[in-house]
Amino acid sequence: MTAWYLLIIMLISGSFSVVMYNLHSHELDRVEQAHRARQNQFFILRSDVPPQSMPRHIIINADIIEEAKNRLKTMLILINLGILGTSSVVGYFLAGRTLKPIQTMVDEQNRFITDASHELRTPITSLRTEIEVNLRDKKVSKDARKLLESNLEDVKNLQMLSDNLIKLTQYQNTARTAFTSVALKDVIDDACQKVANLAKHKKITIENSVREYALVANKQSLTEAFVILLDNAIKYSPNNASVIVGSKPMGQSVVVVIKDEGIGIDKEDIPHLFDRFYRADTSRTKKDVEGFGLGLSIAKQIIDNHHGTISVKSTVGKGSTFSIQLPRKQ
Ligand code: ADP
Repeated sequence: MTAWYLLIIMLISGSFSVVMYNLHSHELDRVEQAHRARQNQFFILRSDVPPQSMPRHIIINADIIEEAKNRLKTMLILINLGILGTSSVVGYFLAGRTLKPIQTMVDEQNRFITDASHELRTPITSLRTEIEVNLRDKKVSKDARKLLESNLEDVKNLQMLSDNLIKLTQYQNTARTAFTSVALKDVIDDACQKVANLAKHKKITIENSVREYALVANKQSLTEAFVILLDNAIKYSPNNASVIVGSKPMGQSVVVVIKDEGIGIDKEDIPHLFDRFYRADTSRTKKDVEGFGLGLSIAKQIIDNHHGTISVKSTVGKGSTFSIQLPRKQ
């Protein structure tokens, strides 16, 4: 926002300076021309006077005009630099003031979500425990067992939702705390390990060729981001497919690529994928795969906290490739 304020101010001030400079140069040229005409007239009238004996005010000095123009240019540049410095400070202050109510509202909204999710956690946990205890009871009839099993699924989903909401707000409030030197390979190996059971269940092979790169990161949260991406790659792939995880250097960063051969994502859905609660409208997605559309928002928040970027390319029916760019340790 400060940059926008600055850009507008500098555009106005810059244009004003150019106009001022042109007007003054024009005026100086006009004065020079008038002076030169007077000098020529004097030469004609007093041709007997040698040039060195001419009165000083008649001799035209082009250097003085040029010097005046240069001085004007320097002055305008200095004034503009002054305006730039002052408006950077004032702009930063004003932008802060303008954004403060929005920031307060977002903070309050996040606090509400965290508080509500925490409040829900205890009853959901006890509900889950009670259902599990009842399911262990051999006297429970077949119909009641079916009902309890379906209740247990719903309760597990609710628990996952409240946990994800807490995680999302928690990562939104996390500054660069607990960042240490971390090996990218360890992070990806851990993440692959965590999704190994899910992959095995669907007979999906994960081909991990990520190399050693040092990062400054929060290992636990970064692992969580890659678990979300790998989990999606597996969830949205058919059985017996492959998921490829690779890495390549890019300037001062490293790019991790997660490529799957799954159902793919429609072009129209891609811009919204990282929004909270967004689930692509592929009929199979919503029917067959559990989820709340929070995973990618959490992953993006974590990558943002690491000053990285995440992007996706996908073709429906062929698969998706997520690319995560992270700055390397310098
Ligand atoms: P969800 O819990 O629904 O998986 P996410 O935020 O992780 O939530 O993902 C949002 C949506 O993006 C998903 O519902 C799915 O439609 C789509 N998506 C994410 N990853 C993939 C993938 N690898 N292949 C196909 N679709 C994906």
